[in-house]
Amino acid sequence: MITIHDKNFVPYISETEIKEKVKKIARQISDDYRGLKPLFVAILNGAFMFASDLFKELDIEAEIAFIKLASYKGTTSTGKVLTAIGLDADIHNRHVVIIEDIVDTGKTLHTFLPTLEHSQPKSLKLVTLLHKPEATVHPIAIDYLCFIIPNKFVVGYGLDYDGLGRNLKEIYQLEG
Ligand code: 5GP
Repeated sequence: MITIHDKNFVPYISETEIKEKVKKIARQISDDYRGLKPLFVAILNGAFMFASDLFKELDIEAEIAFIKLASYKGTTSTGKVLTAIGLDADIHNRHVVIIEDIVDTGKTLHTFLPTLEHSQPKSLKLVTLLHKPEATVHPIAIDYLCFIIPNKFVVGYGLDYDGLGRNLKEIYQLEG
């Protein structure tokens, strides 16, 4: 067990399990995108470690860009708009694969995907390390998924609890 800030976490997905699954997903993606020179778009901060390990395992020609999502009050019905900071690459007519750490309620991608679709990529797919189906508010089509997990808070392998825990090699789950 480990303690981060005021909370206890127990080991949940081991480093070995993560490595094996990342390799398997990378093989699938490589097979699906061979010859297409896809552009991977990793969403910071949480996906940095997954993106790096996944990208290393690809054996095809591919590019990667890293973006941060910032929300600001807009004039849409939801009152919020998500913009991508740092997306220099032109995604028009490209095969784009979003790399996420976790799809929880689906709100982030539900808000952000239309922005990317607006730039008319040739195709747009999503790979995520984790998914909590029980937490779904906005259903999101996930094309490549490493692990389905219950609706419990997790840290490690890039994911944080209030800034800490990102450097853990395994994924830990909130105790209890
Ligand atoms: P969504 O918009 O799908 O509800 O949430 C997506 C974001 O919430 C993720 O990219 C992640 O940053 C954060 N998040 C959701 N669940 C967890 C969790 O269990 N642990 C951590 N560390 N972050 C989470």
